[in-house]
Amino acid sequence: MRIQTPFPAGRGKEDAARGRGPATGLIPEAGLVLAPRQFSHEFPMADNGKNGNTRHVTVIGAGIVGVCCGLYLLRDGHKVTLMDAQAPGEGASFGSAGFISPGSCVPIGMPGLASKVPGMLMDPLGPLTIRWRYLPRIAPWLLRFLAASSPKRVEEISLAMRALYQSATEDFQPLVGEAKAANLVRRDGRLEIYRGEHSLAKAQLKYDIMRRRGVTLDIVKGADLQKLEPALAPEYSVAVRIPDSSHTTDPFRLTEALAKDFQRQGGTILREKVLGFDMRGGVPAGIIGEGARRDLDALVVAAGAYSGSLARQLGSKVPLDTERGYHMMLPEPGIELRFPISSGDHHFAITPMDGGIRLAGTVEFAGLEAAPNYARADKLYASARLMFPGLQAEGAERWMGRRPSLPDSLPVISRSPVHPSVFYAFGHGHLGLTGAAVTGKLIAELVTGKPHNIDLSPYRVHRF
Ligand SMILES: Cc1cc2nc3c(=O)[nH]c(=O)nc-3n(C[C@H](O)[C@H](O)[C@H](O)COP(=O)(O)OP(=O)(O)OC[C@H]3O[C@@H](n4cnc5c(N)ncnc54)[C@H](O)[C@@H]3O)c2cc1C
Repeated sequence: MRIQTPFPAGRGKEDAARGRGPATGLIPEAGLVLAPRQFSHEFPMADNGKNGNTRHVTVIGAGIVGVCCGLYLLRDGHKVTLMDAQAPGEGASFGSAGFISPGSCVPIGMPGLASKVPGMLMDPLGPLTIRWRYLPRIAPWLLRFLAASSPKRVEEISLAMRALYQSATEDFQPLVGEAKAANLVRRDGRLEIYRGEHSLAKAQLKYDIMRRRGVTLDIVKGADLQKLEPALAPEYSVAVRIPDSSHTTDPFRLTEALAKDFQRQGGTILREKVLGFDMRGGVPAGIIGEGARRDLDALVVAAGAYSGSLARQLGSKVPLDTERGYHMMLPEPGIELRFPISSGDHHFAITPMDGGIRLAGTVEFAGLEAAPNYARADKLYASARLMFPGLQAEGAERWMGRRPSLPDSLPVISRSPVHPSVFYAFGHGHLGLTGAAVTGKLIAELVTGKPHNIDLSPYRVHRF
């Protein structure tokens, strides 16, 4: 098999170095050793955790992000309670495509996007659509999204994404190992597949950015690609292979396994919706759940797409909205898939999972409450059949989930500038699984008062 290197070497090593001051000192893709560099958090803090007094931290949300925050907080010696209206992992984390993707460093909003918006409005089944009725509500978010798609901002955002996500896999490792869930994570790399060179050329800017950030990319063509994925239609003749990428074979079971391990280690999970906060002298002294009021020491808001209203009650206004996505699970797909795949032409993911093959993706702006439009999931299947003509939909299940999304494709990982005992961990959009363990580690560092090895200013809550 012949795998070609696609693009001339860029300024990858230099850019990667600017993004992160590493604890490990090593960026594997770039093979580059950097001088250790540490950043302190925005506020001076007592040294808590194992070196001093532990805190009782309440985390709202037991999705993959909240559970990883809980586990890293336990590791620092804190007492931790997770509160969720549902069972762990039943929100957006249930149905992702399963990619843990350290090389993802290109925002959703890219230069040239503005000219595509009218077309998006016209096609309700297109990869990105806006429900007409939601347009007035989403308009301010979209303006910010367009502003974030200028070449200058894309460059800045991509540096911040790379700095954050490049340790995604290694930060998951200790959690997955302790939970004995290693069987749920595979490190096979992934393929981004195109219908010929002409189609790949349209994505040149994205791959240029990835190269400059130090992400390893190989091109695979024709017969070599057929050998890798024999079920693929031959007209899909070129792929970009990203070796440094993992995937989980069941995103829900992974979250569930980590949540069980959180309990095994002494963490508490309360199945209860949080309604608000008991403010005393302007400070959140209690958390009001559906069942009871509880005293509050430290708080982490990790409630996914529902975090915006909680943050607002705590004095922080964040332009969080939801990019709704769909999946179709094919339990008897009729073909074998060897690698997780992204379709460069149809813009969705195809992942081999324990329960069959999952087709996942699309973006729909329709808010938190609108009913799902499962025709969007059916469209995923129609597109997937173009790539894999042997694909079967017998017994297929459809799902819709709400990605928590900010207009600049970056999450909020931050201490509240209003209340020093409040922390935020939400808004990871398309990369919440990828960023969950990294976020958990950083939140624990913020709560404990330890220095961290990346600059957290791009993710601060009041950046908008
Ligand atoms: C189709 C699709 C494909 C995706 N594929 C990928 C992928 O391949 N890789 C990747 O990295 N990411 C992917 N994502 C994104 C990823 O799934 C999300 O970013 C991630 O799951 C967000 O996790 P979370 O914990 O922040 O939110 P959630 O999983 O939604 O968890 C938030 C939790 O908070 C709880 N909650 C909310 N409000 C309250 C309240 N008031 N009181 C108590 N509990 C509350 C909810 O019940 C929920 O359980 C995909 C998303 C979709 C939709």
